[in-house]
Amino acid sequence: MIVQKTRRITGMTLPRTDQMQLDQFYEQMEHAASKEIGYPVAFDFDYSALAPFLSFSLNNAGDPFMPMTYLLNSHEFEREVVSFYAQLTRAPTDQWWGYITNGSTEGNLYGLYLARELLPEGIVYFSQDSHYSVGKNLHFLNMRHIMIRSTPNGEIDYDDLRETLRIRRDAPPIIFANVGTTMKEARDDIGRIRSILDDLAIESRYIHCDAALSGGYAAFLEPPPAWDFADGADSIAISGHKFLGSPIPCGIVLARQAHVDRIGHSVAYIGSIDTTISGSRNGFTPLILWYAIRSLGLEGMRDRAKKSLAMAAYAEKMFKQAGIEAWRNPQALTVVFPEPPGEVREKWQLASANGYSHVICMPHVRREQIDELISDIRQAGGGCA
Ligand SMILES: *Cc1c(COP(=O)(O)O)cnc(C)c1O
Repeated sequence: MIVQKTRRITGMTLPRTDQMQLDQFYEQMEHAASKEIGYPVAFDFDYSALAPFLSFSLNNAGDPFMPMTYLLNSHEFEREVVSFYAQLTRAPTDQWWGYITNGSTEGNLYGLYLARELLPEGIVYFSQDSHYSVGKNLHFLNMRHIMIRSTPNGEIDYDDLRETLRIRRDAPPIIFANVGTTMKEARDDIGRIRSILDDLAIESRYIHCDAALSGGYAAFLEPPPAWDFADGADSIAISGHKFLGSPIPCGIVLARQAHVDRIGHSVAYIGSIDTTISGSRNGFTPLILWYAIRSLGLEGMRDRAKKSLAMAAYAEKMFKQAGIEAWRNPQALTVVFPEPPGEVREKWQLASANGYSHVICMPHVRREQIDELISDIRQAGGGCA
């Protein structure tokens, strides 16, 4: 345990009514957390051992692999976290680079930015089921793009992709692949995409992998999906607050070193290389991710993935037994079912789109919650498409 020194600044106590507001908010959050099974965020964490570090203004500005003049940074932990993920994503030895982001929206922006610098004339291809932030990122970067059809399970339609690539051979393709779509947790197969590009003899190309959702456990699936650097990705974004779990949104972005070398600029003010999107960067989230990785270990992470998959299988089975038309993609934590009545969606914080909703069996989801949800749906008279 860290013994906190008495360097504390005094005078930050709250007036009583404000303290009451905070206490009330805490209770609200406790209740909301007990009914949250619809979003891909894990709650089974305890980072209270890191609380002493909240009394420092940690800032990880600049490149985590470069020394920095400002010494209150956690670059050392950031490097360990990204190195761990470089291994999980089978990045080429010493030929990768990465940093901890504010989440996968930033990681995806970064991947697309690298792609645009490498292939300024490129066209971005992404499926209909891509995350809503992709359109925004493409707008920021002012990149040409074409949306590709999805198949009913949420995966990119490879025939549509092939056909579209074939008629646009004049422009180098930038593939934005999903490894775990937001609503159905479908995974675009990077190996298959690569062989389409090979077939068409398209050599100038870039593949970014949006693994916001599945990146936290894809490496532990058996067999693993085709999603990483060895499968042909040029950059990968993973969210830290989703499967791994964090009280503060964060993520990991990794890319091939040669791509990153194209964009770094040296900045005298911070004494570092400006390779990241944000200037000041969170120095606390690297500690969180590091703590999760080190306390769980590879086996602990594998075990959490296994348990979550078993819970998803349980949910799918129980839905079906109750006569509700539920389904899920192979090895997915997301169980899709017809959109239940409004009061059920509100109680369980269920997202819905095009007439269906989902539960996502993150590690904190318990059987009793699934059972109660199913009973709520039956009582409200829902369940059929
Ligand atoms: C959550 C998600 C994102 C956005 O990630 P954030 O970490 O919330 O910024 C992007 N793509 C997919 C598929 C996601 O599930």
